[in-house]
Parts: sequence; C-alpha cells; structure tokens
Amino acid sequence: MARYSGPVCRLCRREQTKLFLKGDKCHTNCILDRRPTPPGQAKPARGKPSSYAIRLREKQKLRRMAGILEKPLQRLMEAASKKPEATGEQLLRSLELRLDNVVKRAGIAGSLKGARQFVLHRHVKVDGRPVNVPSYVLKPGSVVTCDPALKENVGVKLSLETAKRLSNRPGFLEFDEDKIAVKVLRAPERSEMSWLVNDQLIVEYYSR
Ligand code: SF4
Repeated sequence: MARYSGPVCRLCRREQTKLFLKGDKCHTNCILDRRPTPPGQAKPARGKPSSYAIRLREKQKLRRMAGILEKPLQRLMEAASKKPEATGEQLLRSLELRLDNVVKRAGIAGSLKGARQFVLHRHVKVDGRPVNVPSYVLKPGSVVTCDPALKENVGVKLSLETAKRLSNRPGFLEFDEDKIAVKVLRAPERSEMSWLVNDQLIVEYYSR
C-alpha cells in the first residue's frame, strides 16, 4: 500500500498551518513555531496566491490530514457527488468514518499514523471480524473492538489518559473504556469532524 513515509512536519510547513500529524506532541513542540517558512525557503512566499493555488492547497491540506493518496480521494469525491447531501460535507463524513480515523478519535491512538498501525497489525475487529484495512468506512451501528493486549501498551494507556483528561471524544462515538471498544452511534455532524478545511474550496477544486 503506497503511503507517504517522509518527515511529516515538512507537510505542515508546506501548507503553512498546523495539521497535527504527530498527535499530542504537536501541542508542545512544533517546528512551525520556530521555523514558519515553507520547506526549502528561508523567507515566507511573497505575492498573492491565485484562486487555483488557494483551492489546490486546501485539497492538499485535507489529503495530508487524512493520510490519503490522490486517487482514493478522487474516488471518495465522485461517490460523495452522487449523494443527495452537500458534496463537501459528505466527502468529509466518509473520511471521518474511516476505521483508522475512528480509532484515533476514540483516543485509542494518539495520531492517525498510530491508529493505522494498530489496524494494519490486526489489533482491531469490526463487528467481531478482524479488519486490517485502515480505509474501511464504518456505518452507524458498527462496533470496533481492540485486542485486549493493547490495554498494556504504554502508548495506548497514554492516549486513553489524554482523551479522558481532555474529554474530546466526539458525540457520534460511544466509548467503552473497560473493553477498549467504540460504537458509531450515528453519522457525524460537520461541527464534530476533525478536518480543519474549507470543504467548499475542495469541491470547487475538483469541479474545475
Ligand atoms: Fe505539524 Fe505537528 Fe510537526 Fe507541528 S509538530 S509541524 S503540527 S506535525
């Protein structure tokens, strides 16, 4: 499976915004606070970006936050445009309900990369069946359970403590701390989604 494996802070510098790709570490030690220039440039870019550049950057921001390649994003966009709901919101909803993202939002992993690793290493089941596909899209009613051995994992313990302290689990998920299980109660509202992007600009990018 193709994926980006280079330095992730470089992606934030490229987009000139914090994408929070390293989980909690991003709140305490972020390179953007010290070096806010795009990679390979000593000074910030000058001049006004074109309307195409603005839309391209917004789409790239979403791709990087969701850790998704161009082709799968295009496929999700096509599927979203066929639904009766607003296309941008529907696109973000299908990304929000991806298995790796739900594992992260439930606080089981501190970052999307960590969540993806748990899924790929078969530590996760959906409705009782092992699923090792991070892009698997969950439906309302789906129950995700984790390998009980994960309870002893130091990273998982830390992530669960942080999620408890911050009480930042979204309302569309129900989390069972004893079983490390999460249930999708309903489709997420736009305000509950984790994507800090302007979805209208992304729709406009793909409809050009
Ligand atoms: Fe982005 Fe986090 Fe790196 Fe900051 S620390 S640049 S938010 S990945």
